[in-house]
Amino acid sequence: MTPPTPTQAADLYPVADQTRSFLATPPPGQVIGGTEVRGSGPVVVDQDPGRAQPLAEIASASPEDVDHAVRSARAAFDDGRWSGIDADDRERLMHSIADHLERDREVFTDLESLDTGKPREQAEEDVNEAISVIRYFAGWATKAEGSVIPAPSRLLAYTTREPLGVCAAITPWNYPLPILTYKLAPALAMGNTVVAKPSELAPLSTLALARLALEAGLPDGVFNVVTGAGATGSALAGHLDLDKVAFTGSTATGRLVMEAASASPTRVSLELGGKSAHIVFADADMNAAVGSVMDGIWTNAGQVCIAGSRLLVEHSVHDDFVELLVSRTRELKLGHGLSQGVDIGPLISAGQKGRVLDHIGAARTDGARAVIGGTEPDMPGHFVEPTVFVNVPPGSVVVQEEVFGPVLAVSSFKDEDEAVRLANSTQYGLAAGLWTSDLGRAHRVGRGLRAGTVWVNTYGIFHPTLPFGGVRGSGFGRELGSDAVHHYSETKTTVLDPSP
Ligand code: NAD
Repeated sequence: MTPPTPTQAADLYPVADQTRSFLATPPPGQVIGGTEVRGSGPVVVDQDPGRAQPLAEIASASPEDVDHAVRSARAAFDDGRWSGIDADDRERLMHSIADHLERDREVFTDLESLDTGKPREQAEEDVNEAISVIRYFAGWATKAEGSVIPAPSRLLAYTTREPLGVCAAITPWNYPLPILTYKLAPALAMGNTVVAKPSELAPLSTLALARLALEAGLPDGVFNVVTGAGATGSALAGHLDLDKVAFTGSTATGRLVMEAASASPTRVSLELGGKSAHIVFADADMNAAVGSVMDGIWTNAGQVCIAGSRLLVEHSVHDDFVELLVSRTRELKLGHGLSQGVDIGPLISAGQKGRVLDHIGAARTDGARAVIGGTEPDMPGHFVEPTVFVNVPPGSVVVQEEVFGPVLAVSSFKDEDEAVRLANSTQYGLAAGLWTSDLGRAHRVGRGLRAGTVWVNTYGIFHPTLPFGGVRGSGFGRELGSDAVHHYSETKTTVLDPSP
């Protein structure tokens, strides 16, 4: 990684002194066996999307580097330096990582905001979430119990939870730090070792966390990082010596990951894209619902897997609801994530902005009408104005495809059956939101929704205790909660005959 130029955003916006030093003497790009090394693959330029300027240049991991990282993780697993220590020592070390992250919260917030473009307040929430996820799973190290089995009485039979071995964690750019911890923390708690591959578009917080974990006392080789684009991810997912591949990203890449991982009998979990519906009934608290719909689609400029990118409003309140939504959206401020008072940051890259603008164009071709937005503002960085479409035909691309940008498609419905039918009418099944004051209706409609999570009279609540994941085109497997403990460990049955 080469040092940044003096015109970096870090020089233009208020950031911590340590952030400045991190960017001035950045990590070389790979963390393998406890050592930071330069990759031998192609150099990737990591951008500050708020200014469309280079932030760092990172030499990617080659397939040989990936193999080196997996071998380091395997050696660290096999010699028991992590899986073989007492569970309360693993718990203590994970809390030490969380303590260090708390100490460096400001630096991680700066880095996450600079690298992804998201407003600083949102980046700070991400860092806080990462800390609580690490602490939650630290606790599981000493609490994942087995059981005694009522086998024939002359035998003693019991189960224990065993680590899997080496886990690959391939992550996207929209929530680099929290999504890494969704995989890393349960893996570490259960005694596994990890090779993580962050997105080439936002790798800084992952590299910083690997450095921090070593400082906190995590043994060498337990948490390795390789960086680079699809070729690095593909080399990792297809490595023959993995015990699990945990992937978060697009549905299209998820298929490739599954295919690559099938080269060996490896467990795979896929957290994929979404096209989540936010359903508002006429009996809902309109003010609260509008706020929730706005958070659901404008947070992180709509680049959220659970973005409530389809709004379904009961016919009788459709026009009033849209009017309120549009007037409150007009008040939002676009800008660089580190500038003051910004509500919506840029998209991650020129490519992402192009894809979002293409979807906007296609929605117009399909007959949809933009009641706000629909254009790119005249400012540096990869910005697109928050856009609300009405009169959207059910088959339109903005209804069926994940846009991953600040674009909301609004439709109306007549009754519960139609709301459920429209909500379930895409290939995805990640999440849904439901606003009503009728508990019976919430229960009926909620049961009909095909989604991994249904939020009622709220939206987008994440917590380490709440299992999260999708169905259908949104993937399978669950992260967070006790489900994750089971996904990063395996049941071992021991049968003992005391008097053979
Ligand atoms: P992406 O699929 O392009 O990339 C995700 C990761 O996979 C990156 O690290 C990338 O470098 C890597 N990759 C690319 N090609 C690969 C290959 N052939 N083999 C292995 N790895 C490869 O996704 P993205 O653009 O980074 O992120 C946006 C997508 O992620 C959206 O679809 C979003 O919905 C999804 N997402 C899902 C969740 C969830 O929990 N369900 C959370 C966040 C994001």
